Amino acid sequence: MPERRTISIFCLRCRTLLYTYKKGGTGGLVKCIVERIVEDHTAGDLRCPRCGQEFARERMMGGKPAHKIIQGKVFTRGMRRK
Ligand SMILES: [Zn+2]
Repeated sequence: MPERRTISIFCLRCRTLLYTYKKGGTGGLVKCIVERIVEDHTAGDLRCPRCGQEFARERMMGGKPAHKIIQGKVFTRGMRRK
C-alpha cells in the first residue's frame, strides 16, 4: 500500500499557506498533481496570493494536470501519516 501523507505547502518568502496536498512516496516535493490538492488557498494562478511570487508551473504528468514546484520557492510542513 503506497504511503500517502497530507502536507502543507507554504510560500518560502512570506510563509503564506498555499496548498494542503496528499503526497505520495517518500521523496521531496517536486510536483502537485491537481486532483490531490486538498485545499487551494491561491487564486489558481500558481502565484502566492500575498507576495505574488510564482511558485509552480503547469505541466501534464502521466496524462494528468500537475503543478511542478519551482525549487527554492516553497517549504513544506506536516508530513503526518494519513
Ligand atoms: Zn508569498
